[in-house]
This record gives sequence, structure tokens and C-alpha cells, in this order.
Amino acid sequence: MNRRSFLRLSSLALTGILTQSCNPAGSKAYDISIKSDMQLGHLIFESASFPEGNIFSTDYLVVGGGVAGLSAACQIHNRDFVLCELSEDLGGSSSSQSYAGEIFSQGAHYDLAYPDYYGQETLRFLEKLGVIFYDANAGLWDFVDSQYLIEAQVESQTLTETGFREQVLEQGKLKEDFLKLLFPYLSEMKMPTRLISEKLRLLNKISFTGFLHRSLVLTSSFKKGIDYQMKDDYGADADKVSALAGIHYYMCRPYYTEDVSLFSPPEGNYYFIKKMADTLPEENIRTSHLVRSISKTGKRFDVQVINIKNETVDVYRAQKVIYAGQKHALKYVFAPDGHLFSNNEYAPWLIINFVLNDKIKSDPFWQNEFLTEDLHFMGFTDNASQIRRKGGYRIFTAYYCFDSTQRILLASITDRAQAIVAETIKTISLYFDQDISNQVEKIFIRVMGHAMSIPKINYLFNDKNLHRSEPNMVYAGVDNSRLPLLFEALDSGIQAVGELDHV
Ligand SMILES: Cc1cc2nc3c(=O)[nH]c(=O)nc-3n(C[C@H](O)[C@H](O)[C@H](O)COP(=O)(O)OP(=O)(O)OC[C@H]3O[C@@H](n4cnc5c(N)ncnc54)[C@H](O)[C@@H]3O)c2cc1C
Repeated sequence: MNRRSFLRLSSLALTGILTQSCNPAGSKAYDISIKSDMQLGHLIFESASFPEGNIFSTDYLVVGGGVAGLSAACQIHNRDFVLCELSEDLGGSSSSQSYAGEIFSQGAHYDLAYPDYYGQETLRFLEKLGVIFYDANAGLWDFVDSQYLIEAQVESQTLTETGFREQVLEQGKLKEDFLKLLFPYLSEMKMPTRLISEKLRLLNKISFTGFLHRSLVLTSSFKKGIDYQMKDDYGADADKVSALAGIHYYMCRPYYTEDVSLFSPPEGNYYFIKKMADTLPEENIRTSHLVRSISKTGKRFDVQVINIKNETVDVYRAQKVIYAGQKHALKYVFAPDGHLFSNNEYAPWLIINFVLNDKIKSDPFWQNEFLTEDLHFMGFTDNASQIRRKGGYRIFTAYYCFDSTQRILLASITDRAQAIVAETIKTISLYFDQDISNQVEKIFIRVMGHAMSIPKINYLFNDKNLHRSEPNMVYAGVDNSRLPLLFEALDSGIQAVGELDHV
């Protein structure tokens, strides 16, 4: 079987596996640990019978320990606050996992040097955390821990149905015309996107495909490359995301004229989580604490929190609330504002870490992108291209991004995990032209049902804090009208505290 027909078969097989009722019998069994945020409904249901726990009072309650929640907490680190995170670990979609002393990303895994026209508050915050410094020669904010920069020659390789190539977008006249069309927007595509000028905001009202079709005739293979890149960063293709989001992807940094550093520590963007958490008092951070409901009593908020380990329901009496959890569940937690986020659409992601005894003979690439028939499989990263422990394990991290309508198929992941893993190993083996199945020692799977809020038409420039029902309860997180990116999440936390300070 040649590479091309194998890839087609392989991708079709995965879609089939997702609809199968259980794992196939008789095949090799891998050692798999699964973490899924899709079992929370069950926990909330079960908590109805949990006894009452303690009553606490605090000035600020922060809901969610992802980038946005921690960024907010850092702004109030010397005030009276408590942060509740439902998972055992901080990080949200910027989480990590570890095995035998090796740490690796289980979600967001990189960022790039920042131009000096980006939001000053966030730049200063990252500088204060000791993460970035200003490189006056380059005119860019670069990373202090330069050992985690990825060298250009190992950055990426793309597998297409006709073979390998260096970049996702095909080189040629069409790419030149495409970039020529986008170049005028360079330096206008700021981050956070709230800083983008009024005159460009019309681009939020049309699709990226619609915008491109006005000036270019796209071939199907070039369009596939654009769709892949939109899905990789935004969770949906170019027909769905806005022109502003699309242009922003290519023009938010001077990628084509400067050397923009690519920063990817072994633990991915958990690096930023750790930097923030290290500045906060440990006793104020409560993991395995799920905020079940928020209600207003007089001037204060009564917040019911499930203490998952103790199996009790605690009550936090808070003066102010910063809600940095995903907003799809807000209708259950705080019904008066649930409607504000009813148009959000989330892409589900499935992440699989493969821990391998490293006997693969091949030059490593940091990002191994798959432009095959089925665009759900985005490819995998390889820690051999990053700095790593001497003699440590080789880790491949594979990414699947599904359509929101397919979320339900991920709910019973346990029943299908072996089959999904076997299929992914088959695909990666093909990439290396060698069977890697015998080198796999351990596997971690992470299911994020509401991983990424898609920047559809009209999604941006729509800050829901302007319409919130309670002045003392604000919203942070990338799913409040922002691009799903680290810098936006950091800024959202800073702005949320600013909003409360202005009440
Ligand atoms: C697979 C993937 C890869 C990505 N890669 C990158 C990348 O490389 N670079 C980049 O810049 N961005 C990337 N992103 C985008 C990334 O999502 C953001 O950069 C950022 O991590 C989002 O942070 P957040 O705090 O807004 O949301 P989240 O990370 O979703 O955090 C929300 C937190 O709130 C918690 N929570 C929710 N409800 C409750 C509740 N009721 N009680 C208590 N806790 C609650 C959740 O458990 C979670 O920890 C990626 C996203 C995904 C899904």
C-alpha cells in the first residue's frame, strides 16, 4: 500500500472508530490514562447528596485556574482573594502532564516574540514575571529563557497526500499574491484585538474565505492549507472564522520580514502558568474545587463550591467575583448572564501524549503537520526538537480538533481509547516509515469538550462585560470575545480586575 492510500484509509478509520460502540477485541492493549472534562455533569449531579462543608469569606473569588484566572489573581495577589479550579492541576487548556520525571504539554504549547505595538499592560506583566525582555535592535519583546527557543531548521514539516514539504501553504505565485493582499495589515493586527482600530473592524463582519475570494482565485489545495491553519489556531475553517481573525493569524507579527523567536518549553504554555502561580500565596489557590452556583445576597455573592476531594459543598461569601471559567456552563452557574454567551461556539480537542523508549531513527521536527483528507487530525509535536532531560523519554503529542457537533462522540472516550490510540500510532508509524507501536510505554489522553471558542463572524469586539448584570462580577478568558491565544487570555485577566476597580 502506498503512503497516499494508507493516509486516506487511516483518516477514514478514525472517524469510524469514534462512532464504534467499544474497543475492538484481541488487539494490543496500551497503558492509557484518561482525563476528560466531559464527566463534570455527573459530578455536579452526584454533589446534590454531598453534605455542607465550611463557610468562607473573601473579598475576591476567582473562578478558574487557567491563564486568564491566574493573570487576574496576579493583579490582586496582595488583596484578600481565593481562586477555585475544578481540576487537580492548574492550567486549563495550557496544562501539562508528567511521567518519570519528564514534563510535557497537554494543550497550548508555544508563543512567539511580541512586537512593541502590542498591549503595554500585558507586556509589562510578562516582563515583571521575568518572562520577556525588550530587544531594541529587533524591536521585539523576546524570551528570557532562550534555551527554550526552537531552532528554525527543526521548526516544522508538513505531510500532504503527495509527500513532505517544509510549509503548510504551498510556495508559488498564489502564496505571493496571498501575502501581498495581507501585507498592508501588518502592524495594524494588534494583540489584544481590542486595540485594533475602528476602521478595520468591518473585517469582523465577513468570513476569511469571503474576504480572500474578492481578490484571489484559491486552488483547492491552497485553500486546504489555509483551512488547516485556521483550525489549528481557531478551531474552525476559513469559511467559518472572520476575515479579521484570518488576517490576524498571518500578520500579527512580522513573520515574513523579521526573525521572530518561537518559544516552546518542554511543558508548553504551562511554563506561563507556573510563572504566575509561583508569585501567589499557595493557600489562596484551591484546586479540585468546582464552582457550582453563584447567587447574589444583598451586596455579596454566595458561591457554592464542590470540594471534590472531601465530597462536601463549601460556601464562599465574596464581595467580588472574577469568572474566568469557560462560559458555556454559565447558564447553570449564574443564570442571569448565561444568555450573554449563548452565541459562543466551542471546538472540542483531543490530545494524546505518547511516551516512547526512543529508538526511532529520524531527524526530529518540533511540529509535524498533517494535511491529509481528514482535517481532524492536526499532527503531532516531538519533544526531541526541544530542550529535554539527558536520557529522558521521547514524547509525541498528537492533536485532534473536532467539529462542535462531534463533541458527543468524545463523551464515552474510555470505550474507544484503545482503538483511537492504535489508529494514531498507525498514522505516526507511517510518517516515520517504521512501526513505533513496540516503543510506546505509556499514553495520556486529555479530552477538552469546550477547548476553543471559535472567532466566527461578529465574535470579536463584543466584550460581554459591558452588558453584565452585576457590576461586581466580571468575565475574563479568551471566550469573552477574544482570539483563543495566550496573550489575549493574559490581557483578559488584567482588564477584568481593572473593570472591578472602576466600579
Ligand atoms: C489544544 C489547544 C492548543 C492551544 N495552543 C495554544 C498555543 O500554543 N498558544 C496559544 O497562545 N494559545 C493556544 N491555545 C489557546 C489557549 O486556550 C489559550 O492560550 C489559553 O490557555 C486560554 O486560557 P483561559 O484561561 O481563557 O481558558 P481555559 O484554559 O479554558 O481555562 C479555564 C479554566 O477554568 C476552569 N473552570 C471552568 N469552569 C469552572 C468552574 N465552574 N469552577 C472551577 N473552575 C472552572 C477550567 O477547568 C479551566 O482550568 C490552545 C488551545 C487548545 C485547546
